[in-house]
This record gives sequence, C-alpha cells and structure tokens, in this order.
Amino acid sequence: MTEMIRRSAAAQAAALGAGEVSSEELTRAHLDRIAAVDGDLGAFLHVDEEAALTSSREVDSRRAAGEELPALAGVPVAVKDVVVTEGQPTTAGSKILEGWIPPYDATLVQKLRAAGLPILGKTNMDEFAMGSSTETSAFGPTRNPWDRDRIPGGSGGGSAAAVGAYEAPLAIGTDTGGSIRQPGAATGTVGVKPTYGSVSRYGLIAMASSLDQAGPVTRTVEDAALLHELIAGHDPLDSTSLPEPVGGFAEAARHRDVKGLRVGVIEELEGEGFAPEVRARFTESLAQLEQAGAEIVRISCPNFQYALGAYYLIMPSEASSNLAKFDGMRFGLRVVPEESPTAESVMKATRGAGFGDEVKRRILLGTYALSAGYYDAYYGSAQKVRTLVQRDFAAAFEQVDVLASPTSPTVAFRLGEKIDDPTAMYMNDIATIPANLAGVPGISLPSGLAEDGLPAGIQFLAPARADERLYRVGGALEALLEDAWGGPLLAKAPELAGGAH
Ligand code: GLN
Repeated sequence: MTEMIRRSAAAQAAALGAGEVSSEELTRAHLDRIAAVDGDLGAFLHVDEEAALTSSREVDSRRAAGEELPALAGVPVAVKDVVVTEGQPTTAGSKILEGWIPPYDATLVQKLRAAGLPILGKTNMDEFAMGSSTETSAFGPTRNPWDRDRIPGGSGGGSAAAVGAYEAPLAIGTDTGGSIRQPGAATGTVGVKPTYGSVSRYGLIAMASSLDQAGPVTRTVEDAALLHELIAGHDPLDSTSLPEPVGGFAEAARHRDVKGLRVGVIEELEGEGFAPEVRARFTESLAQLEQAGAEIVRISCPNFQYALGAYYLIMPSEASSNLAKFDGMRFGLRVVPEESPTAESVMKATRGAGFGDEVKRRILLGTYALSAGYYDAYYGSAQKVRTLVQRDFAAAFEQVDVLASPTSPTVAFRLGEKIDDPTAMYMNDIATIPANLAGVPGISLPSGLAEDGLPAGIQFLAPARADERLYRVGGALEALLEDAWGGPLLAKAPELAGGAH
C-alpha cells in the first residue's frame, strides 16, 4: 500500500475500478500514513477515522452492487478547516470556533460525499485564512514535508502538506489572495483557484466574500481537473454562483498540446524581488513550452504593482464585516467576565481571547478603512485600483491566451522567519493577488528545484470562465518537465523518499 498511496488520485481511482484495491483499504492506508507522519507535520486539525471508513465501505458496497460511480468515487480527500462539515469540528484555525460543530455541510462537501469520496479530516490553516505560512493557526503550525524547519505556505498549508506527504491524494483549499497556489508552490504540489463564482461558497467561512474561492490541491494537473469538475457548478445557495455549467477540464489536462498557445509573461512579476533560482526555473519552464510550440510574449500589466496594497485594504474591510458574527453568542467560544457580565462585555472578552494577533490587526485595519471620513481615501481608492487591475487583465487577454509568472517570489522560508513582520509576510502574495482582485482563474504547478533544493512554482492565469486553458497548459508543461526530471518532482523530496517515516 505504500506504493498505492503515492499514485495519483486518477491512478488510485483506476485501481479501485479494476478491483485491485477497495476504498476501505485505500482509506485505511491513508489513515495509517497520517498516524505515522502527522505528529511531526501537523497537516490535520481533526481526523475522523470512523466517518472516513464508513464512507469507504458505503462506496465499496455501491461498487459491488454494480452501480455506475463518479470518476473519483472511493478516493479519499482532506478538507481545509474553513469549510463546514456537518457533525465534524470546523475551527478555521481559530480558538474562537473551538468546540463548534456545524449543523450542515458546505455545498462542495455535499458534492464530495455524494460522489463517494471518504473525507479523512480537516486540514490546518492560518487563522481565518489570514496568512502565508500556516503559522497564524491557533493550533500550531504545519511543517513542510520537504523540510520540517520550513513553512508549507499558507493559508492552506495543511492541505498542501497533506497532499505532498501522501497523507491524502486530494485536498480542498480556498484562495482569497493565493492560499491554494502559494502553498502548492511551497510544497511541490498543484493548486487551482477556479474562476470566482464557479465553485459554491455556501458553507465556506467567509474571509473576504468578493475574493474567496475554493479549489483543488493535488499532486497532478489531471487530478486537479477531476476534483475541480466534481466541486464546480451553479448553486442557488450562493448568490455569486455563476449560472453556466463548467467542465471539460480533465480532457484539457490530458490534451498535452500547446501548439499555437500564446503565453504572456507578466513583466511586473518576474524581476526584482524574485529569487534567482525561482526565476531560472520559471524561464526554463517557458523554454519547454516554447519548444513544444507555444508562443511566448512579454506583457506589461502596469497596475499590478498596486494590487497588493489594494488587496490589503479590500480584504481586511470585508473580513472586519464578516468576522463581526463571532460575538460569543452564537458559535464556539464564550468568555463571560466575572464582573458585570453584560452582552457587550461578553463580546469584548470573547473576541479579545478568541482572535489571534493577525486577525485583530486586520479587523482594526478594515474597520478603520471603512469608517466615515476615510472610506473614499482607503476602501474607495482600493476599489478603483481593483478596476484598473481588471482592465490590465482584459487588455492582456486580447493579446494572449494565458498569462504566466512565478507563483511565489521565493521558495519556502523558515518557520518564525517572517511571522513578526507582517509586511514581509504580505509580500509573498505579490504574484497571486491580482487574480483574486479580477476573479480570474489560476493554477500553480512545480517548475523545479530552486534555492536550498526546495520546490518552486509556476503560475498560469486565464480569463474568467476559461479555466480549461489552465489545464491545457498545466498538463502539457507537467508532462514536459516530468520527462526532463525522470518523474514527478515530489519523488525528489528527501524526507519523504525511501519511506523515512
Ligand atoms: N496570504 C494572503 C492573506 O493573508 C492570502 C490568504 C488567502 O488566500 N486566504 O490574506
């Protein structure tokens, strides 16, 4: 089973279909792997063995009864702890939600269950998805499977580490400013932020509602496509859900042909501030695509330089409003002061004790940015920048099919290195944020090993509703690079190789 859990989700699904393995055995193998390595890694906040095994047995009986099953039926999945799961703890990495058991499933969780994917558990994350390293989690950090002294990226470091360490073949992440793609780059895995509105946000604990989007975290581009197809689609319970059906991603991932595809290199996102070897792997990846027949052109998106600043006003503004509901009355933690326990003092004490520093920082910033007299200067200006970023994308996509940049400026940094310097932490998202501001889809996949022998990521962005282009270019590049490396990049991870655990 050690070999089986290292296969892609698509290959595991094929083994299930061929009767080589049962879902119960496969799920058990992943649970064993979690038991063996997660003490060190900290990718999971909650593992529900019983629930996962029960679902696996159900799907095995459906298969035995001859039922036609969805593509990934029986393959286990891990879910970021910001997505609500009925009857299972959901904390969003925050003390304020400790002990809360949601009474319902997010739409995407319902879809996973209906398709017969056993849910292994809930993955660690920065508190309320605010962070780029998974260190702001109230329950301790997740470590990078490549090097336990390094961060796994964030906010969805738990999902990426779980997939990278073969604890789960598939995981769900959420991406508000890069939290799927950036951990993907840091751990040598694949992450996709779908077009805004294409995956339901119903049952996601909202951080910034106009930016949040859930998506797949996997080890291969094809797996991401399969999981994306499964969770996408219109949902009347999400008022921002797009009406049209989505699909064709897996086919695009297998297409492996980039002849004539126009790839635009974003000039503003590859120079200063990007580590030399991260840039080198990026340039080499583009050379591979060019050799395979893609056309590489340089594109300027001049307003992208203001995107980070705009994001760090819009996101805290929306978060300050979304987080107002955690008041000690309805969910999780309640701190009652001994003296004069009024509603107001309970709210104050609960929020004071329940939220961590980064969350408080953003609530303060967002409340300030939205306050009378400052609204136009901060929130209003940020929204104008947002429009300019959208226009840059629109102009660029008149000339090219997809845009490209390194996913993150550096490889995974050390735990503790940036946690006391919010600005340094925010800079990690410089390349991922523009996509969220414009609602366009993006993929990150490994581009090779860079500084200190750690993985770097390359990001592709496509116009809204053209997610299949990401799979086309991502699937083709992955195949070209794996040919050159002689196999998947993850196979080169030192601490995972040779069954060290
Ligand atoms: N790192 C970014 C932030 O802290 C993005 C987080 C996310 O995408 N959830 O806001």
